[in-house]
Amino acid sequence: MAEYPSLHMIINGEKVSGGGRRTFDVVNPATGETIGALPLAGAADLDRALEVAKEGFAIWRKASAAERAAVLQGAARLMLERREELARIATMEQGKPLAESRIEVMMNVGLFQFYAGECQRIYGRELVRPEGQRSVVRYEPVGPVAAFAPWNFPIGNPGRKLGAPIAAGCSVIMKAAEETPGSALGVLQCLLDAGLPKEVAQAVFGVPDEVSRHLLGSPIIRKLSFTGSTVVGKHLVKLAADNMLRTTMELGGHGPVLVFGDSDLDKALDTAVGGKYRNCGQVCVSPTRFIVEESVFEKFRDGFVERAKAVKVGDGLEEGTQMGPMANPRRPEAMDHLIGDAKSKGAKLHIGGERIGNRGFYYAPSVLSEIPLDATIMNEEPFGPVALINPFRGEEAMIAEANRLPYGLAAYAWTGDAQRQRRLGREIESGMIGINSHMIGGADAPFGGVKWSGHGSEDGPEGVLACMHLKAVHEG
Ligand code: NAD
Repeated sequence: MAEYPSLHMIINGEKVSGGGRRTFDVVNPATGETIGALPLAGAADLDRALEVAKEGFAIWRKASAAERAAVLQGAARLMLERREELARIATMEQGKPLAESRIEVMMNVGLFQFYAGECQRIYGRELVRPEGQRSVVRYEPVGPVAAFAPWNFPIGNPGRKLGAPIAAGCSVIMKAAEETPGSALGVLQCLLDAGLPKEVAQAVFGVPDEVSRHLLGSPIIRKLSFTGSTVVGKHLVKLAADNMLRTTMELGGHGPVLVFGDSDLDKALDTAVGGKYRNCGQVCVSPTRFIVEESVFEKFRDGFVERAKAVKVGDGLEEGTQMGPMANPRRPEAMDHLIGDAKSKGAKLHIGGERIGNRGFYYAPSVLSEIPLDATIMNEEPFGPVALINPFRGEEAMIAEANRLPYGLAAYAWTGDAQRQRRLGREIESGMIGINSHMIGGADAPFGGVKWSGHGSEDGPEGVLACMHLKAVHEG
């Protein structure tokens, strides 16, 4: 089985490294050991990538839908063949259990396959005009895209950032997270090996703010696609405004989960606990604020604690591990701070609230209850393995709590009442809602948020259309 690969950038299809460039140490979060040295781009690298992206767009905007589809299908096949290798790289650099990394690969395979079909179904329309005149409305690829992908889904995020522009006929310069470059390079390599022209997609790494200022400041780039925190998202939207770029912003959340007394509590608990500790809670759609009807509050809280105690924490490479370490040393630090603040304001800590061992970045599955609403953790995305469980009286109060924050990415609700299910589907302010289910994504479904969680969708037909603009052509 392949070990961790050597690292480089991919500019114009060439593997770029060395040459006195600055480097970034890539660390295995399970051990804290350095596993790779990542070269970082300087201004000359970024200028070169921009010029190549311009050429790439000139090539790819003219490619037929069938050519684009063939590349995406081919890349999906290669990813399937390389599944084990890619999954191991993702786990080594990000920490999540191998089983989760394998699922990530499969989700990416599904997305590339879906986009391969979808790019062949981009239709314009012809308008009714008098004899001799013609007016058509057509979709065109928006142009070279600057795409920034974070570290929490080291395969899935780069897959989304590359797949949509390639399906639409754009070129793309991707800067994936410096902490998880091996997986991102693996995804791009599948596309290049499947026949994508080398000018069309490139990978650079660097000091994030240097790279984003440089790329978004260039007149060559026509779209920004970003996944990450709301703070950074707001900063990037401001930079993008100077060049009036199209934007797709997939930002933070604070997932409310409404649990009603008429729900199947065991199913809700089994699903919610699995969802909470997936990827150590470092998921933008993680279930976070459990808003529980007071009649079942104690039962739900105790059931949650009991299940959380049973979660097997360990190195993601070991079979049977259910939760790996956190991805970087900033995360356990953030957990200590947020949980400490909540406790000092009167919250009850039932389990966890501490690091595990002194090797790697492990943090114990944690459960807090009766947390005052002014605790920082009730207002800022914890992005970690902590469940926040509070009792509420009645549907109205529960909906008000769900909508209290400026975030609106994913929400969940558990109830057996069909009328209420519909009301919640209407009233909750979020881009996605799972009712009696935590499965809120799919290659064919739009994924994205409202309010401070961003705008625009990835996945689904909307993911491709987000990389296109409309042109009306009127012929006299
Ligand atoms: P961060 O906010 O600095 O970084 C988040 C991501 O944005 C990283 O991948 C980083 O490389 C990138 N980034 C940061 N500054 C950038 C810039 N100027 N230009 C381009 N990219 C930039 O901090 P972090 O410690 O990595 O993560 C902290 C918080 O980010 C988390 O608590 C969570 O709220 C959020 N986050 C969200 C997602 C998501 O899926 N929406 C993923 C990762 C992190």
